[in-house]
Amino acid sequence: MAPAPRPGARSGRVPLARRAQAWAVLAGPLACGTSPPPAEPAPAATVAPPEHVAAAPSPSRLGEPAPAAPPSAGPHAAQPAPDPCAQSRRVTLALAGDVIPHRELQLHGLADPAGFAPLFAGVADLLAAADLTLANLETTVAPATDRIGRDLGATAASRAPAYGDGVFFGYPSFNAPPALLQALAGAGVDVLVTANNHALDRRTLGAERTLEQVEAAGLAAIGTRRRGATTWPALVRTLPGASVAIVACTDLSNVRPDADDVLLHCSDELPAVTATIAAARGEGADAVVVFAHWGAEYVTEPTPRQRKLARAFAAAGADAVVGTHPHVVQPIERITVTRGDASVTVPVAYSLGNFVSHQPSIPSRTGALLLIDVVGPAPAEAPAPPEPAPGIAALTWIPLVVDRSPGRAGDPRDPTTEAPAERFRVLAAARADPLGVRGTDRAGTTGELEHLRATLGEPDERVTPPLLGQGARLRADARCDLPAPE
Ligand SMILES: [Zn+2]
Repeated sequence: MAPAPRPGARSGRVPLARRAQAWAVLAGPLACGTSPPPAEPAPAATVAPPEHVAAAPSPSRLGEPAPAAPPSAGPHAAQPAPDPCAQSRRVTLALAGDVIPHRELQLHGLADPAGFAPLFAGVADLLAAADLTLANLETTVAPATDRIGRDLGATAASRAPAYGDGVFFGYPSFNAPPALLQALAGAGVDVLVTANNHALDRRTLGAERTLEQVEAAGLAAIGTRRRGATTWPALVRTLPGASVAIVACTDLSNVRPDADDVLLHCSDELPAVTATIAAARGEGADAVVVFAHWGAEYVTEPTPRQRKLARAFAAAGADAVVGTHPHVVQPIERITVTRGDASVTVPVAYSLGNFVSHQPSIPSRTGALLLIDVVGPAPAEAPAPPEPAPGIAALTWIPLVVDRSPGRAGDPRDPTTEAPAERFRVLAAARADPLGVRGTDRAGTTGELEHLRATLGEPDERVTPPLLGQGARLRADARCDLPAPE
């Protein structure tokens, strides 16, 4: 769902939630390089940021009065048929892992007349079907900005993007062309998390220009801000049926210090993070989801530090915690914390793995598209108590894989570089390839699903088969029913 029309934006998208009925918690640095994983610089000593104030009320619609009812048409007016969609209280969030524009992906995207869109075309139906779709943008997108964050001016900005021109680059200091954002928006992504260890790869100017580019593409960003800002408001979306607040932070940064305090740090600024979570709850969000960039790369178990942060977020009011950065999936667990006088249980997906990258190993080319169903408040006239209760009602995942196929005759090539002869596509690993790249059901053919299941457990089959088998139908086959959760 997007706040404003944009090229490729979907209208009339159908919530995946109509398919997701069960609570089925299942069971994922700093590098982001290709295999073998290169060592990354260890985080520098913590630099205390300037003092933060508590999060101010975010620019949400939560506090606004409800729209006025339309004027009555009188007792003899024809009564329109009730809109079943208006009765729905359930929305679905889809959360994807790291978008890492390695050199090979940038070369291909720049050489292909379709840009980066083919990367995501195989899962665009799934991304677009959710009510709100997020991914982690593990790069800056900062035209005319050099590798140490200097402005190269209007002349450089007017040049067509080219890889390695002093501006756009892959590992280890990422900067991707704006076409990447246009492709993500066109595929159905709504929100990009910009809090990660590569957020400052082009320093403060790069972070700010990334925000400009994200907004220009019709997307929202969360986790970074412009210099001079003094608060870290949550991103709040009031969707038809429920409102959702997103908070994003990173526990890692490859560039320190964060001289202008434009990046929200999970540990160094934990009071600001928890204040933002609490403020979002206080405003009445039906669910607060924390997206954290944390953990150890290529390790399939969460670190004690991840567990500690997750508990802090949950205690502050998070209803779900979702992580990225390890470039492999980590387990989904339910943790129980004390919040006020109550004991609450919160799902934590420690790592979703990569969404798209050029990392070739099975653990790094596979990832999870996490689906979270959020139920909003019942209408005032509904019998009490409402069932299901507002909050998170279901959670499951769809297995993803970055498919790398041999190039075909006619594939676009960059005549000035050695554009790779491979085709890259993100696919849902368990369904027949909708693009015909492989032409067969990829499930079980390469060990990708087996790997994901080993860490995440089994996907909820009451959710995933309809999605995987009929994903392309979702947008054309509206369902507004709200089955009771099991
Ligand atoms: Zn990272």
